[in-house]
Amino acid sequence: MKIEKNKVVSFHYTLMENDQVLEDSHDGHAIAYLHGFNNMIEGVEEAMAGREQGENFSVTLPPEKAYGLRNENAIQRVSINHVMKPSKKKMKYKPGMIIQLNSNEGPREVVVVKAGLKTLDVDTDHPLAGKTLSFNIEITDVREATAEEIAHGHAHGDGGHHH
Ligand code: ZN
Repeated sequence: MKIEKNKVVSFHYTLMENDQVLEDSHDGHAIAYLHGFNNMIEGVEEAMAGREQGENFSVTLPPEKAYGLRNENAIQRVSINHVMKPSKKKMKYKPGMIIQLNSNEGPREVVVVKAGLKTLDVDTDHPLAGKTLSFNIEITDVREATAEEIAHGHAHGDGGHHH
């Protein structure tokens, strides 16, 4: 069965930047996604089209096809009051720390760049934005999506949504 719209694809991947492994799904379950619904990184979805179960391939993606270019306004100064804290304890913020901010669109993960007394400079870009990334992909399953999955616009079951 070839990968096209309305198929659920399960796969394992290794994500690398300059031969350095950043993520490896082999540590856990395969990922499952519904093809043709923009649920996957654009370049990965494009490279998947027309392939079948059992195929292994590598693809190198420029930032535009992966997590996007870096945004010039990515560094923002925010009040420490907007940080969602895991506990009431006073937190010590350090550069490189990943924190959650309360925003109009809900909680948002950002990286601390600089910590002041009452404010933090944070980087709001995805940590992989601006990077050229390589994926080694192993397609473990391709199946027809159910009517419910198509109605929801995402895959259900192992590696997909549970609700
Ligand atoms: Zn659903």
